[in-house]
Amino acid sequence: MGEFELIRNYFAAAPCAQPGEGVALGIGDDCALLSLKAGEQLAVSTDTLVAGVHFPEVCDPFLLGQRALGVSASDLAAMGASPLAFTLALTLPAVSATWLEAFARGLNAMAQQCSLRLVGGDTTRGPLSLTVTVFGAVPVGQALTRAGARPGDLLCVGGTLGDGAGALPFVLNQRSAEASTTQALLARYWSPLPQLALGQALQGKATSALDISDGLLADCGHIALASGVGLRVERDKVPMSDALLALFNPDEALNAALSGGDDYRLAFTLPASCLAELIDAGWSIHVIGQVVEGQGVVLVDGLGHDVTPSTRGYQHFRETR
Ligand code: ADP
Ligand code: MG
Repeated sequence: MGEFELIRNYFAAAPCAQPGEGVALGIGDDCALLSLKAGEQLAVSTDTLVAGVHFPEVCDPFLLGQRALGVSASDLAAMGASPLAFTLALTLPAVSATWLEAFARGLNAMAQQCSLRLVGGDTTRGPLSLTVTVFGAVPVGQALTRAGARPGDLLCVGGTLGDGAGALPFVLNQRSAEASTTQALLARYWSPLPQLALGQALQGKATSALDISDGLLADCGHIALASGVGLRVERDKVPMSDALLALFNPDEALNAALSGGDDYRLAFTLPASCLAELIDAGWSIHVIGQVVEGQGVVLVDGLGHDVTPSTRGYQHFRETR
């Protein structure tokens, strides 16, 4: 199978690559053309997943397709952008029709869930890696950046934390347990559902936001730095799933929730006056701390004592001191 046949069969023919709102021209030309409405800005983000680094060399291609797009689309959610389109740069060691068919199905399933259309990409030969670029639309000046948190705001998250990191030993077959208990964690790892609707609901309300990919404390550090404030996280308020608490002892579970990566939940700061309206509208929002004057992130226990751990999250290139 040649490059063009591969693109045609598995990607151009996919339901998610068919014409749709916001896409003036899709796969097949030198560029895709996206249409924005008057008064909108284009939100763009790229993520690369490398085999053996971001996912096991041997894994289910359907799940990989889902995950690759879910992880990228989460960045649109974090900006409060509405989903428009994505491109896929795929590097493959060999062409396998069964692999491609399953991968494209997984990609398509996530694309449908996120209302994202595939508008282009690149296909090359080499060690397996995937680069997904997502495009979204956001009203001018309304994007949720990391930079607007103000002392007095509440620090919130959009759901339980730690499942992604908790799933990892099971994904890597380093640990096993009954399927009924691991299922929930594995689903959160392989099919992270970007909080796109929540992100849009936070427009005009949240003062800063991001999606948690490197661990709560590390990612909160980005908000603190960009906003020039301090963040106080209350350890006992960090929400964790029943599955995580069933599979790990309390310390391990808390560590996964605070410092593990791969959650893809939104963390955001919110003036206290905006909370009730969002809760009344049915959003599941957990208040886990406050924005304070100062800098950095502090974790406190129920008595207000500083219990900040020394290691905070995953970085590919750690700073050397
Ligand atoms: P060019 O050489 O002009 O960059 P290509 O031959 O790489 O174009 O690709 C042909 C068309 O197929 C382009 O529209 C490109 O965006 C699209 N395409 C290539 N690879 C993929 C892929 N993996 N998924 C979706 N579209 C793809
Ligand atoms: Mg090309």
